[in-house]
Amino acid sequence: MQSEPAIRADGLRKAYGDVQALDGLTFEVDRGEFFGLLGPNGAGKTTFINVLVGLVRKGGGVAEVFGFDVETDYRRARDRIGIAPQEFNVDRFFPIHEVLEHKAGYHGVPPAEAERRAEEALKTVGIWDKRETRFDWLSGGMKRRFLLARALVTDPELLILDEPTAGVDVQLRRDLWHVIERLNAEGTTILLTTHYIEEAERLCDRVAIVDSGRVVDVSTPDELRSRGTDQVHLTLAD
Ligand code: ATP
Repeated sequence: MQSEPAIRADGLRKAYGDVQALDGLTFEVDRGEFFGLLGPNGAGKTTFINVLVGLVRKGGGVAEVFGFDVETDYRRARDRIGIAPQEFNVDRFFPIHEVLEHKAGYHGVPPAEAERRAEEALKTVGIWDKRETRFDWLSGGMKRRFLLARALVTDPELLILDEPTAGVDVQLRRDLWHVIERLNAEGTTILLTTHYIEEAERLCDRVAIVDSGRVVDVSTPDELRSRGTDQVHLTLAD
């Protein structure tokens, strides 16, 4: 499986009733790559991520993570993925360090190692001093940091970040960029969705433009820039 790409989507389809959220989505992400998904609201980006992590069943086509089918080989695919989702679906009854330990435990990490990983993840995102706090009591920016820590606690090979800097201030955006750039430099494959073109240009090795459930373009940030961003603006227009 060493030669398999980190992500392979081929002809991927998903319909919600009459809405074709994924309509033949096809692209690959190489191991170690920092890959961006850009596209307007409703393009299908979150649906694709939900298929990868087993929250949504695909209607057809191929979806693989490191060569493992996300449905028939769910456990082996899912254990390699850390995800910071758009929605704040976090256990609200425990201090945040315990939430991380539970999460690592769920993925089969023994308790002492889970504790160590929770500490490391909270330090990585800069909220170790908030470890006894509950999620609800964190500020919006700290919630974003926590979601990234939660994605890291299983030591993922593939990190999926669904609009990780939506609505955060400039300083926090820069802080989060530094953290995820470092993780990528250390070998973690990253799939990022964003509405900020400058974020994609700064961070990503390649960017796919998704529209109406299909990939309409894959290019490097330089290619994107040299063509001008008209195409992106066009597709990003609501
Ligand atoms: P955004 O940038 O706004 O997050 P997106 O690219 O992530 O958008 P999706 O959330 O995947 O897009 O939505 C793709 C399409 O599927 C949209 O038309 C959306 O309304 C529809 N959709 C998504 N989830 C559901 C659902 N659970 N039930 C019905 N329709 C859905």
